[in-house]
Amino acid sequence: MQSYIPGYIRARQTGRLKQAIQQAMDRLSSCTLCPRLCRVDRTRDEKGFCSTGKKAVVAGFSPHFGEEPPLVRDNGSGTLLKLIR
Ligand code: SF4
Repeated sequence: MQSYIPGYIRARQTGRLKQAIQQAMDRLSSCTLCPRLCRVDRTRDEKGFCSTGKKAVVAGFSPHFGEEPPLVRDNGSGTLLKLIR
């Protein structure tokens, strides 16, 4: 029986995580991470509509099993809550 390896561990092993981090940082330099498309340079701590600069503050996290099964299968998904100041 093959043991389960979480996707984030596989991504780290294959280098895909590093690639995804670089892509996210590229998008942060002219922020288009959400539909507001502020285009501020968050790598320089500029703040757009969300008032979040270079580093987001995580207010909470938890496993989430409320999504439709075809989206999350048996392992659920995660929820991250950002602190808005
Ligand atoms: S609201 Fe925040 S996350 Fe969304 S585009 Fe503007 S700066 Fe980026």
